[in-house]
Amino acid sequence: MAGVIRRLDEAVVNRIAAGEVIQRPANAIKEMIENCLDAKSTSIQVVVKEGGLKLIQVQDNGCGIRKEDLDIVCERFTTSKLQKFEDLASISTYGFRGEALASISHVAHVTVTTKTADAKCAYRATYRDGKIKAAPKPCAGNQGTQITVEDLFYNVSTRRKALKNPSEEYAKILEVVGRYAIHNSGISFSVKKQGDNVSDVRTLSNASTVDNIRSIFGNAVSRELIEVGCEDTNLAFKMKGYITNANYSVKKCIFLLFINHRLVESAALRKAIETVYAAYLPKSTHPFLYLSLEIAPQNVDVNVHPTKHEVHFLHEDSILERVQQHVESKLLGSNSSRMYFTQTLLPGADCSSSEVVKSAANSSAVTKGTSDKVYAHQMVRTDSREQKLEAFLQPVNNPLSTSPTEVTTEVNAGPPGGVVRPQDAEMEDVSDVVEMVQEDTVIPAGLSESGRESPETVPPRKRPREDVDVEMEKDDTRKDLTAACTPRRRIINLTSVLTLQEEISNHAHANLQEMLRDHSFVGCVSPQWALVQYQTKLYLLNTTKLSQELFYQILIYDFANFGVLRLSEPAPLYELSMLALEDPESGWTEEDGPKEGLAEYIVEFLKKKTEMLKDYFSLEIDEEGNLIGLPLLIDNYVPPLEGLPMFILRMATEVNWDEEKECFETLSKELAMFYSIRKQYIIDEANPTNSQSEGSDSGSTTWKWTVEHVLYKSFRTHLLPPKHFTEDGNILQLANLPDLYKVFERC
Ligand code: ADP
Ligand code: MG
Repeated sequence: MAGVIRRLDEAVVNRIAAGEVIQRPANAIKEMIENCLDAKSTSIQVVVKEGGLKLIQVQDNGCGIRKEDLDIVCERFTTSKLQKFEDLASISTYGFRGEALASISHVAHVTVTTKTADAKCAYRATYRDGKIKAAPKPCAGNQGTQITVEDLFYNVSTRRKALKNPSEEYAKILEVVGRYAIHNSGISFSVKKQGDNVSDVRTLSNASTVDNIRSIFGNAVSRELIEVGCEDTNLAFKMKGYITNANYSVKKCIFLLFINHRLVESAALRKAIETVYAAYLPKSTHPFLYLSLEIAPQNVDVNVHPTKHEVHFLHEDSILERVQQHVESKLLGSNSSRMYFTQTLLPGADCSSSEVVKSAANSSAVTKGTSDKVYAHQMVRTDSREQKLEAFLQPVNNPLSTSPTEVTTEVNAGPPGGVVRPQDAEMEDVSDVVEMVQEDTVIPAGLSESGRESPETVPPRKRPREDVDVEMEKDDTRKDLTAACTPRRRIINLTSVLTLQEEISNHAHANLQEMLRDHSFVGCVSPQWALVQYQTKLYLLNTTKLSQELFYQILIYDFANFGVLRLSEPAPLYELSMLALEDPESGWTEEDGPKEGLAEYIVEFLKKKTEMLKDYFSLEIDEEGNLIGLPLLIDNYVPPLEGLPMFILRMATEVNWDEEKECFETLSKELAMFYSIRKQYIIDEANPTNSQSEGSDSGSTTWKWTVEHVLYKSFRTHLLPPKHFTEDGNILQLANLPDLYKVFERC
């Protein structure tokens, strides 16, 4: 027997249809938000109870609904946004089918309170199954619309049972509203639970898209964003948005896609973009994407599914390809452009501008934050004690040949012809210098023989006086800076010096110090620049500037406690001054008067300072006005002596001799500049006509050795790097290993 076919009750049909459109509270809220946006609202507030199942209330400040329209707003296919079928093709508002409110009213109790700008008061109406229950009642209210949806699915028990978990529904609601908030910067959104004081989503009307992404997805995402944007008139589409760079990755792709300002999904587009990222991100991790596509409305098929989520469009493949290309170019670009952005920044460097924040974070995100797992490609050798091959290539017979050739150069340069030798032959470290001078240069005059040792038996670096120093000066936290300081350490209580010390430590940058302490030396690029690795990053350091700072700090911290580098032949200050004045760099002009007179003045002036210079700076000048000794600041390092004439001149002209603190400071600065390793130093040394060192030992090996084993070794322990190194380009981050890894991976 065939069953009787009965016509379904219309209400049941509507309910089923409604269930297709509104599957959960978040769907209803999405529809309602779109209505608010269509009504040109600038503030949209959502309040829910029990994940929206008990109550959804959406309040806006838009245009409102006219009283005469209130009768039919909840009827199917009533919309104020579409008059003729042809309008569908050029629709620019969200809703156009007049289905949302009707559907909701079939599965919940709907109350609308609304006021238009020109109405005298607000009106309220309640609906059931698409029909208004009674004539709208006048009431108090501000312009805009408030729609309340109560007891969602009260009449659909299967649906109600499927949505047992209010917190899951609430999470969905937050997700939807958050996404609309990001897409609609300029409009303030909030979502909260009824009775709560705090909102769980909250954006402000003056916030930017990135601000909103930050407030909803957090800093980890917002600081890694790259702005994207492309357009193709042939394909009739525009795209813009923000995507994360290669430093950011999460387990699950976050993809906010708006097509014609409607939150939709496109599996095809997601896949296309993820393919691009696969080359940049660690395996099975994903990016954050926010894209807004505008496609000629006639090309978009939004009617695929009642919930209008999954979207297809004409020329889909071509558009996907264009988007892919653009994303790829941006990802690549971000890797190189980031270099310029971040080069002066370091992890943890303070940066206030949001532009900088964006890129500064690149460096830290890989190791912190985004995931707790450390990937193989993020692991690097960072043990600073490990050495590179180059370190073993140093010729055995002369690890310290830097200085002698340097000294020779100075001899060749002219009359002053000073040679450096240590004063204290009994000091072990200093004796190295003695020995080295003897081995490689032809300047025997006045040289102590006591330090002579066979090169192979160069004593290991010992710091025999360290304990004594600690004992003598308990509060000296830095201990002794150099093994070269005098055996008995003098305690300095001069306020001026203590203040200068304090200034140094106050300006120290902790992260930078850590980097210097634990770096692995990679190699010298030039006399001025060297590469070091720290964690996964490669840095380019200005050795000149860092060494200058190092010497300054030693001068301040080891004040009045230096050993002496004695010149084997006294260098007349007069001739040094003349040499300096002849150098165009001195800026001497006729108006300054005859050089001879100036030189004489300089000698007389400096002679008056000899006592202080000797006592505090180990700068020794004899009674005849000859320079005979220079401070020994670190072992195995002799300042580039061709800078001596200019130093003498500047000592007389640039140092502030009137105030104690300024005097120590400026004099130390001048000395530090003179001591710093410079280009000139190397060029002369590497020049074979000036170099008297023999055999396979080329000049370049020796300066490189000095840079690595003398200067960078001291940087580890003796340099408190000032913050400004992170900003002035003296420490540049060149690359981050994971980025390089990705490049290699692609090859
Ligand atoms: P659609 O948005 O497709 O037109 P809806 O069912 O979502 O259909 O809404 C029906 C109508 O109700 C809209 O066309 C609009 O005129 C009116 N409306 C709904 N919500 C609002 C609101 N928040 N502000 C102003 N008018 C609204
Ligand atoms: Mg609508």
